[in-house]
Order: sequence, then C-alpha cells, then structure tokens
Amino acid sequence: MSDPSTIRAAVLDRPGVPTRIEALELVPPGPGEVRVRMAAAGVCHSDLHVRDGDWDREGPIVMGHEGSAVVEALGDGVAHAFPGLRPGVLVALSWLIPCGRCRSCRAGRVWNCSDSPSYTHRMPSGRAALRRAGGGDVLTYCAIGTFADRQNVPAAAAIPVPDGTPPEVAALIGCCVTTGAGAALKTAEVRAGSSVAVIGLGGVGLSCVMGAAIAGAARIVAVDRVAAKLDLARIVGATDVVLAAADGETTVAAIRDATDGGPDTCFEAIGLPATIEQAIACLPTGATACLVGMTPFGARASFEPFPFVDGGRRILGSNYGSADPAADFPRYAALHLAGRLPAERLVTARIGLDDLEDAFAAMRRGEGVRSMIRFD
Ligand SMILES: [Zn+2]
Ligand SMILES: [Zn+2]
Repeated sequence: MSDPSTIRAAVLDRPGVPTRIEALELVPPGPGEVRVRMAAAGVCHSDLHVRDGDWDREGPIVMGHEGSAVVEALGDGVAHAFPGLRPGVLVALSWLIPCGRCRSCRAGRVWNCSDSPSYTHRMPSGRAALRRAGGGDVLTYCAIGTFADRQNVPAAAAIPVPDGTPPEVAALIGCCVTTGAGAALKTAEVRAGSSVAVIGLGGVGLSCVMGAAIAGAARIVAVDRVAAKLDLARIVGATDVVLAAADGETTVAAIRDATDGGPDTCFEAIGLPATIEQAIACLPTGATACLVGMTPFGARASFEPFPFVDGGRRILGSNYGSADPAADFPRYAALHLAGRLPAERLVTARIGLDDLEDAFAAMRRGEGVRSMIRFD
C-alpha cells in the first residue's frame, strides 16, 4: 500500500447488516496509543453476535476483538510508561483495559471492570481510532478493531508475548484461549484429579478442555453435536467424548455416565438456554456449573433452586476467564511454548480479510472452530 496512512478494514455500519471492506484513514497514534501492523485475527462468536444484531453496538465500527500485531510506532509517553513496547515487538491484543478506578478494579478483579475505556470502542482519550476519507469517525471494536491490516490501539491493550510465540497463538490468547482456559484455571479453579464436562466445542470450549488438562483434571468429557469437534477435543486433552443428542435428557444422562454420576465442574461454552440448563441438570451434589458462553441479550434460562441449596451446588459466570490480561497473556503463551497449551489446533481455516462474511456464514452453520485472518 503506497499511502502509509490508508488501511483496509472490515466495517460494520450498524448491527444486523453485512460488513464491508473499506479503505480508511489511520491518524497518527496519539498519547498513550500505539500503531500496529496486524499479524493474525480470529473470528469469534462475539463478532457474529454484533454482526447479526443480537447485541447492540454503535457504528460505523471496525469489527474484530481477537488479534496479534507487530508494534510499528509509539505515541507520546508510551516508551516511558510501557517499556516492553518497542517497534517490532509482537503483542497479543486485549479487548479489556482495566480502568483502575472502579470498585472491581480496586478489589483486584480487573476482568469485572465496569468502566473500561475498551467498552467505548474509542481510544482512552475519547477520540475514534480511524476516519473515513470523506470525514466521519469510525470506531474500533473494544478499542482494538482487529479486522484491519493496521490499527491504532491503546498501549495498555498491547501485551508483549514471549519470543517465539506464533502470531496465531498470540491472537487466540487475546480472546478464546484466555476466556476458556481461564474459566477452568481461574474462575472455576478446577482441581487436580477432579472430573470436568465441557458442553460446546468452539474455540472457547476447547480452551476450557485445555485449561482443565493443565489443571490436572482426571476426567474431561467433551460434548458437541459435531463429531469432528469431538476428535479435536481428544487431541487437546479430552479423555471422553459425548455426541450431543437431539434431546437434552439423553445428553445429560451420557455426561453423568461418563463422570461417575456427574462432573465436579461443568462448563457451558455455547450461550444457549437449553445447554445452560443441561450444564446445571448434570451436576451432582457439591458441583459447579461454570457459564462461559455468551447468550443474546434478554435470553433466560431456568433451574430448580431447591437442589442448589440442598445439595450445595453452585453456578458461576465467567467473563474473559477472570483474566488480568497483562499478567495472564504471557503466562498462557509460556504454557503454549512449553507444549502444554496446544492452541494452534483451534485454527481450522486460514482466510483473508475479504473472506470475513463467508467465515460468519460457516460459523452460523457450526462448521470449523476458528477462522484465522492472516495479513501476511
Ligand atoms: Zn471473542
Ligand atoms: Zn475498572
């Protein structure tokens, strides 16, 4: 591209309409921002929720919230405040910057930050990262907008990863690996020797499987309605698999059979009321359902409270794997480099930016695990 300030990006004018690939103007990085060249970007179900209008978002907006990138230029103050950020460094991009001031941040639960600048889809200064050539701001999803060949991002969202981390793995650490592995390792604190079931084997569910394996779970039962995903689950650490039946009761019975009466922890990684209810229904006394899948706004699930009180059961919600991204991203990358987190297995298609709508269509059909946009 001859003009260094022009980028290509997938723009969503408003939720519910197709994305379009547009040329946009990249303004120079402002104070506290870095300009990056995207290396890899995963297409995540949360992007589809916005694309399909399940979740309301302001537009126009460059979609994408899972990506890795190489630092190109630093805005004012970044070199001093973030000494790890230098041109040429590979970073995993975080879709959450803790505000540092809200009640959750002050309590050390940065993943629950209620006032993150990321959720404004603007830079922390309040400005939009991009402009249309004829004028008009373009927002960037979670302030990182990874479906773009180059981008401005907040320096705090650019987390350096150890040398040798593959760009695709760094991208996956930005969302699905941290969300899934963190749900097992941090939110639910899966214990060594315990039993686990994971319902839904997309990128997040398979990352729950990997996290449970790292935690030393003795039995890991992977559940999906697509047989190919069961094979992949075995490769990344599942000990048993259940092909989901058309009726939930049969699936619940199969999970119970595989776990001596029910798993100590059951993860739901789809975000459907029916499978959330299955995750709750399969629990033995004292067990935990950890809800990881994101539902459309307004969806409801129901359960009978009595067994929860009587049997000491628990339901946990897990967002972003209870992550402190700056601390956890390098840790997950190190686990990958040590051979204990085979995240590269999640990539089932490598595509270009122009193939994004096809990747969304495949996701609606439940095909594949992760489509990875490559920018090289
Ligand atoms: Zn995601
Ligand atoms: Zn906060």
